[in-house]
Amino acid sequence: MPQIQTTTERIKGFAREAGFELCGVAPVSGDWGDPRELGHFPEWIAAGRAGEMGYLEARNEAGELKRAAIENVAPWAKSVIVCAINYNTDKPYSTEIKDSSRGWISRYAWFGNGQGKTMDYHHAILARLRRVEAAVQSHAAEFPGGALQTRCYVDTGPIVERVFAKYAGIGWLAKNTCVINQQHGSWLFLGTILTSIELPAEEAETAFVNPPSDRCGSCTRCIEACPTGALVAPYQMDARRCISYLTIEKRGSIPEEFREQMGNNIFGCDICQDVCPWNGHAKPSTGITGKPPREMPVTRAEEFQPREELVAPKLAEMAKLSREEFNRMFRGSPIKRAKYQGIRRNTAVAMGNSGDAAFRPLLQELANDEDDVVAEHARWALQKITSQQTT
Ligand code: SF4
Ligand code: SF4
Repeated sequence: MPQIQTTTERIKGFAREAGFELCGVAPVSGDWGDPRELGHFPEWIAAGRAGEMGYLEARNEAGELKRAAIENVAPWAKSVIVCAINYNTDKPYSTEIKDSSRGWISRYAWFGNGQGKTMDYHHAILARLRRVEAAVQSHAAEFPGGALQTRCYVDTGPIVERVFAKYAGIGWLAKNTCVINQQHGSWLFLGTILTSIELPAEEAETAFVNPPSDRCGSCTRCIEACPTGALVAPYQMDARRCISYLTIEKRGSIPEEFREQMGNNIFGCDICQDVCPWNGHAKPSTGITGKPPREMPVTRAEEFQPREELVAPKLAEMAKLSREEFNRMFRGSPIKRAKYQGIRRNTAVAMGNSGDAAFRPLLQELANDEDDVVAEHARWALQKITSQQTT
């Protein structure tokens, strides 16, 4: 006799067919209350910890922070499907790079499309998420909750995805503020589908009352390793201090107090994930299954494979990029978010932090750049190299 599948198991099956390695379904709320982590979001915003990321402060017509509760953006939503793909590769971690001529680009931004161009993971994940959505839609009558509504998001939606990832069973919310899965670590791309599916009470309660256990234990490696003190307390990050924010989101000048700690990071920062023992145990991804979505110009073997030139790139090459080359090299890539100015600004800082006098000629050129921000950071870098050589 065929086994009767639960609603959650049924949806997990659709996600597996779409190539996701992990999937779960979280109830939006219930008799047991709302996810308590969302309660901290307004405090985090009020404390100014979002920095210049104004989109995080988006409010609905009633003036409520959209991300503080799903009801604030989608009152019809009763559950959230969370899908995840592990994007780890067998490439080194940033903490293993000792060559001072090289910078660091966060590993989530390395992927190619097989034609020498970068591929934005948002598109790759969204295309797969749409397959899950289509499967759920085509079986709508089988799911509880009446007329089915759905909405897909990858990163850009007005919801705090990692909180729902926890209650969907993907992993625990760790002291470095990432979601960690016991087998896959924290190198996870997340995609979410808001749905009007009302999970049966037993499934909803299990998801809410028994999320994955916090396995950080007494470890504090990420907090100790964070160069800027952005992990101001376990489970709490001040984005204004985080190198990911400073190198990607922050426009204009980077506060001098953080420049030295930025090290060789030119786009993002992986340190608090690189030092995490759960990522030490995690294997490179092998679980991406199924053909890539038709709309992705990749073969199965190429999807989520890193472009070699983005793994610890040569700082000199990054500094010399013309605007046209930057646009060509990073078309369709998350790296474009830092903009041409940001990447050259960050590269100048990294060259200064290397202490390598061989960068002087390049930095002198940048110090006369028509972009004032780049020029000022290059002057800072020149001074840094000089001070390192006279001490
Ligand atoms: S990404 Fe880097 S700067 Fe940000 S919290 Fe982690 S270690 Fe600190
Ligand atoms: S480094 Fe330790 S404390 Fe930090 S997230 Fe990993 S297990 Fe948790």
